[in-house]
Amino acid sequence: MSGFIFALVVIAVLWALAYVAAPLWAWTVAVGLALLADGWLCHTAPTVGWIVFAVLALLLNIRPLRRMLVTDHVLGWFRKVLPPISETERIAIDAGNTWWDADLFTGRPDWRKLLATPAAKLTDEEQAFLDGPVQEFCASLDDWHITHDLQDLPPAAWEQIRKHRFFGMIIPKQYGGLGFSALAHSTVVMKIGTRSTSAAVTVMVPNSLGPGELLMHYGTEEQKSYYLPRLARAEEIPCFALTGPYVGSDAGALPDIGIVCKGTYKGKETLGFRVSWDKRYITLAPVATILGVAFKAYDPEHLLGEKEDLGITLGLIPTDLPGIEIGTRHNPLNAAFMNGPTRGKDVFIPFDCLIGGTEYIGKGWMMLMNCLSVGRAISLPALGTGAGKHASRVTGAYGRVRKQFRVPIGKFEGVEEALARIGGLTYRMDAARRLTAGALDRGEKPSVLSAILKYHCTEGMRQVLGDAMDVHGGRGVMMGPRNYLARGYQAVPVSITVEGANILTRSMIIFGQGAIRAHPYLLKEMEAASSEDRAKASVEFDKALFAHIGFTISNAARSLFLGLTGALLTPAPVSGATARYYRQLTRMSSVFTFVADVGLLMMGGEMKRKEKLSARYGDMLSHLYLASAALKQYEEQGRPEADLPLVEWACQDSLYAIQQALEGLLRNFPSRPMAWLMRALVMPAGRPYAPPCDKLGHKVASLLLQPSDARDRLTRYAFTSQDPQDPVGRMEHAMKQTLAAEPVEEKLQAGLKKRLTPANYLTLVDDAARKAVLSADEAKLLRDTHMVVRDAIDVDEFGQMRGE
Ligand SMILES: Cc1cc2nc3c(=O)[nH]c(=O)nc-3n(C[C@H](O)[C@H](O)[C@H](O)COP(=O)(O)OP(=O)(O)OC[C@H]3O[C@@H](n4cnc5c(N)ncnc54)[C@H](O)[C@@H]3O)c2cc1C
Repeated sequence: MSGFIFALVVIAVLWALAYVAAPLWAWTVAVGLALLADGWLCHTAPTVGWIVFAVLALLLNIRPLRRMLVTDHVLGWFRKVLPPISETERIAIDAGNTWWDADLFTGRPDWRKLLATPAAKLTDEEQAFLDGPVQEFCASLDDWHITHDLQDLPPAAWEQIRKHRFFGMIIPKQYGGLGFSALAHSTVVMKIGTRSTSAAVTVMVPNSLGPGELLMHYGTEEQKSYYLPRLARAEEIPCFALTGPYVGSDAGALPDIGIVCKGTYKGKETLGFRVSWDKRYITLAPVATILGVAFKAYDPEHLLGEKEDLGITLGLIPTDLPGIEIGTRHNPLNAAFMNGPTRGKDVFIPFDCLIGGTEYIGKGWMMLMNCLSVGRAISLPALGTGAGKHASRVTGAYGRVRKQFRVPIGKFEGVEEALARIGGLTYRMDAARRLTAGALDRGEKPSVLSAILKYHCTEGMRQVLGDAMDVHGGRGVMMGPRNYLARGYQAVPVSITVEGANILTRSMIIFGQGAIRAHPYLLKEMEAASSEDRAKASVEFDKALFAHIGFTISNAARSLFLGLTGALLTPAPVSGATARYYRQLTRMSSVFTFVADVGLLMMGGEMKRKEKLSARYGDMLSHLYLASAALKQYEEQGRPEADLPLVEWACQDSLYAIQQALEGLLRNFPSRPMAWLMRALVMPAGRPYAPPCDKLGHKVASLLLQPSDARDRLTRYAFTSQDPQDPVGRMEHAMKQTLAAEPVEEKLQAGLKKRLTPANYLTLVDDAARKAVLSADEAKLLRDTHMVVRDAIDVDEFGQMRGE
């Protein structure tokens, strides 16, 4: 065997060992055998190679020696570069758990495990609630009247909220609530959102981070028995106040304080807090009867013990106490949900008015983070997905009804591009919403996935509503009762800002927390490094460090192999058109994990400040998840052939987004030689992905332009109506009418040998009827269609504008 072939064999064996993440002993045996074979085949004397091998083999395989000579030094360095983790960061990291995100961070996602997780399903009771009270509630809402005339929900809507316990969706039945699953909660908010953002936000807030949820998890039995039934019946209107003029994204920097003191409450002298606060942007505050307030608790007189600074604490304060200022409103982009400031000056509250009582003094941040790790996956993703469903339905219909240059505008390639984005993004958002809600219902609390959902569904909302507005042209811009888009479009920045503003979520939270939480070894290394017990730290760190090194080498080897083979040899859990996406996502999972490890290794704590890089890592992780969700949904729905363009569009777009993020990362990676090396390993044959092609976009767009099962599946739970007087029903009716008229219009044109235009339409129909080219029924159909289409494209006109 020539030396060259021998070298190739050795490289192949080592590569295979790396690929399968072989243990250290296997490497030792392999290298030993390679040296033996080298001596035997090439008759070389056992010299330097053997000496180096012997030293390394002993050093790495004898653990006490390895710890003393290697690990402890690395540990010392690691401790120095480890960024200080503040208490608030530590609590945020500890909140919730990991789920499929941890699999994606292995480089070897176990697709069969994902596909085996049961599909999220509504119970019969939840389904009946959606088909009954929710449908009725939606049908009764007139969003223009709400936002323009009332700037509030009408009394009848408030009454329905009370009667059907919309505020008690998450409250268990034993306390008088509906006890709904996360999926049902999300679906109800989504459906209402397709009718009125103002109504959806009103319903959403008492069911998300706030008094109800906090009481359920941390309230005393007495608090739960008193408040939860009242909240479920909307006899109490809750709000939760964290934000203030100096506290926005940096919620830990609360200037609002509570001092432990004696005071009088309801005529009795008792220990409690004297609390002062200045909060703003608080949803439902203007009408709230109980106010959840976050404040920093201090005990300067040591009435409770040694500690003076007690930490963030959550009060549950009736709004009729003296010293509370509440009732004025902000105007959040003309949305009509209640939102406003609240201030309190030296308001005395007894310990009974703390959520959870004295046991939870100082634990407010932990309580908030734990609730947020779940809640962020529900309300805003539901609102974003709802926007997609609504946009898909009405924009498809409008694209078919509205003609320019004698062609339905939806058939122009330029418009098709926008329609394809609307359809593809909606499919992906809905898939992610359902997958994550299902995980929550199984008891997972995936904080990183929640952040991914919040960010991508609200950014998706921004995209789809922007596209929908473009396709509607002036019909989307002119506001009034006929406009079913503009209020949602106006409200997009609300969704972008709340529950973690999006820029911060993308650039700090998704990868910042994801890297620590979902990475198989990083948290273990960090925990070992911060341990006080030096001997234990050394053992634990050694274990995690060497597993981490093997993991990184393995992902480098896998990335190169998968890159060179185009991942064609990688198994996929299904056959058919979607199999290749599983393979490509496996490849990108290896690539992501490898480049993330290199980044963490080279930048360590500096990564915290490298937000642009962190954001790109976050994009990669996010799209791995979003595409997984699309594939899972396709399987769960029984692989409908008609949905294939949607799932393919979603996966191709995600793979391309991963590639874009990777490209940005490599171009901006601080160490250029390392960036070149990474590029060679992860994209050995150049860039593998392209955006969804025009042909695919055409198929997705076509799906929105006519009624079909696939269109109904995609837009399921978007509010629809058959009433031609309803803003949405008008468009739905016009589309059906247009489609029914099309063959008759062709018959007329063929019969008269003339082209129909809006100007000659009615004259030609009369002509055709007279000459028996059309039957009387056919002529009536066209006359009706002409009227219906005109009605559908019309915008509102006002005699005099309000305020004139
Ligand atoms: C309609 C509405 C309803 C609300 N309801 C409530 C409520 O009921 N209760 C409540 O307590 N609060 C509520 N909020 C407040 C909301 O949570 C805050 O607006 C949000 O936390 C952002 O704070 P901010 O507006 O002060 O923006 P800032 O914190 O000033 O942020 C401004 C911008 O800077 C970015 N940014 C900040 N820090 C970083 C960083 N480190 N890295 C990158 N980017 C960063 C943000 O992403 C954002 O884009 C509501 C807000 C709105 C608009």
